[in-house]
Amino acid sequence: MKAAELLQALVAIPSVSGDEGRIADTVSGWAEGWGARVHRKGHNVWFSVGSGPRRLLVNSHLDTVKPCAGWTYAPHAPEWREDRLYGLGSNDAKGCVAGMLLTARTLLEEGAPTGGEVVFAFTAEEETGGQGLGTMLDALGPLDAAVVGEPTSLKPCTAQRGMLLLRCTAHGRSGHVAHAHTTQAVNAIHTAARDIAVLAELRFPSHPLLGEVRAQVTQINGGLARNQVPDTCEFFVDLRTTPDMDHAQTAAYVAKTLTSEVQVHSARYLPKHTEAHQPIVRAAVAASGEGPVGSSTASDWAFLGGIPAVKVGPGDTLRSHQADEYLTRAELEAGAAFYTRLVRGYFEEVARG
Ligand SMILES: [Zn+2]
Repeated sequence: MKAAELLQALVAIPSVSGDEGRIADTVSGWAEGWGARVHRKGHNVWFSVGSGPRRLLVNSHLDTVKPCAGWTYAPHAPEWREDRLYGLGSNDAKGCVAGMLLTARTLLEEGAPTGGEVVFAFTAEEETGGQGLGTMLDALGPLDAAVVGEPTSLKPCTAQRGMLLLRCTAHGRSGHVAHAHTTQAVNAIHTAARDIAVLAELRFPSHPLLGEVRAQVTQINGGLARNQVPDTCEFFVDLRTTPDMDHAQTAAYVAKTLTSEVQVHSARYLPKHTEAHQPIVRAAVAASGEGPVGSSTASDWAFLGGIPAVKVGPGDTLRSHQADEYLTRAELEAGAAFYTRLVRGYFEEVARG
């Protein structure tokens, strides 16, 4: 199967998060046909090529978001138009999956890199942070480095923002609006408003690859009736953190700064950074010809703990989660060749020491 047909077949199988069974079956079947011994856990598929003391994970996700409004092409009936394949997931991240599968096939045919094992894992529920890569690490065994496939225009991303979500509650004391000036009523919405004004001005240190961090208030809810002083107002704060920020310390700092009560709603998407001297970074820079970049979007890298990793793949992140998502033929072919260079280059870098 050629690269173009392989991508088209992947995009033709609907695989919204949680519904990856069919695409996982298809990927397993292909890999078994190429001679791999395939493992399966839920909708996650993995297999190894080669053996040796070093283990490199090559991973991307099989799932997509739901189709959004505005598609002019059929999201699940992809066709090549000129040099573009339009379809849901073509860019995020089935182009990466296709490139990695073609690399696996090449290694199975031509021989694995010496001195190491390449663990290919195609995983589920990346878009929802569910039963995917984060639940697989024990099954995959010890890993020395990782490549996470996401559309980065083949630029090696060595820093990725995390996400810290805070649930803030302003407390007040309710009362009739008409008597508010004479009673002990305290308006929780007014308290929340003062805190939100403080949040809008908060500044955190800039990161060399990722830039500034701003606190964004994304949801607010308060008040029961138009004539009652509200006693609570709840709002959510979304912080896209840099690797210089510790989530617990940042939450504590915000709690100290605000009058409202602050609770951590989600802190598991940790910010990530891999040092430039790591063999996986050196190999990715050499394979791409571009220097390291930062990325604002979360990915499964967040769940890889301290394993040195690079996020890189064909396609453009700005096309993800959008109507008429596409990948070009040139991007697809460059991606497949890139992952093969990267995998071989990694083990050469390791051997060089
Ligand atoms: Zn993705």
